Amino acid sequence: MLLLCREPSYAVLRVPTPPYKRIATEEAFLTQEIFKRYQRLLNEPDVDPGFASLWGHFSKHAPVLDRLLDLGDRRLGDMDDSEIAMQILSLTAPGVQIFEADEAVALARSSNDEVSEAVRRHPDRFAALAAIAPQNPDDAAKELERGVRNLGLKGAIVNSHTRGEYLDNEKFWPIFEAAEALRVPIYLHPTALPPAMVKPFVERGLEGAVYGFAAETGLHILRIIFAGVFDRFPNLRMVAGHLGEGLPFWFYRVDFMHGRMVQARRYANVKPLKRRPSDYLRENFHVTTSGMAWEPPISYAQCVLGVDRVLYAMDYPYQFVPEEVQVTDGLPCSEADKKKLYQLNAERVFSLCE
Ligand code: CA
Repeated sequence: MLLLCREPSYAVLRVPTPPYKRIATEEAFLTQEIFKRYQRLLNEPDVDPGFASLWGHFSKHAPVLDRLLDLGDRRLGDMDDSEIAMQILSLTAPGVQIFEADEAVALARSSNDEVSEAVRRHPDRFAALAAIAPQNPDDAAKELERGVRNLGLKGAIVNSHTRGEYLDNEKFWPIFEAAEALRVPIYLHPTALPPAMVKPFVERGLEGAVYGFAAETGLHILRIIFAGVFDRFPNLRMVAGHLGEGLPFWFYRVDFMHGRMVQARRYANVKPLKRRPSDYLRENFHVTTSGMAWEPPISYAQCVLGVDRVLYAMDYPYQFVPEEVQVTDGLPCSEADKKKLYQLNAERVFSLCE
């Protein structure tokens, strides 16, 4: 019988030579160039409060910062210590999305060039996603195409909202069109909360990874679904971290209430969808275990989404706890399903074998 209140436990030893490759799929890096721009932004008098909270801290927190800035020996050593065979690298939040459009476009390009060099140096240890600047949707689509076709990148990272705007706004849909045409996923990752949302969270230290990130990114995912993005782009694939930002727990109620709202024509902007909201989460999304090294929610996500839809992630270097691998090694599922979680799903979703 499943114990529903089980605490995280490292009682199961890490499997030393596992019959699978551990591929970690939400692993962050930062370029020196973008870090310098973050430091400059932090000194501006009207700095965004969510960004100030996030980067006011991490710009001075060496254990995380030094690892973010390293795409070489230190990172590879940490991977060896936690027996991670491969990282899917992505530009950390807020990426380039905090900057003015022209600056963001240039920084996305140089960041993609830099990370693809690291992949070329260590092709068996790293793959990477393209940073894009949604501030300029047409350029973002072009940069995604350049990243995939010319640099060998495996999809795009979007760090949630862009200066308070969400991807359900049709002006951003060239990005979806490009991702669908290129058959690559968009990883929708959290970022610092926008000014309109941050106050009641930051007052109790809740605006970050502790909870606010999930609330804001979960909101973003539902906005995309309710806007009918997947009716327009049925083959678009997206990835969400943190086991879907809590949304799998909400499937029944979201479907029920969405149906009621449509029936009552309560909101001009809530239109009928071809399928239930949860169907898009089941069929257009994959979720990763980033930051959620606890057996009950991982097993729950595998149950409601299917074992083909849940991927392993560590959330390096923000949640670098080598022992956490023991939790996934010890999951109460078959070795075949564990290989899907750690390796096969990631290889399929991010086309790692092509
Ligand atoms: Ca992360």
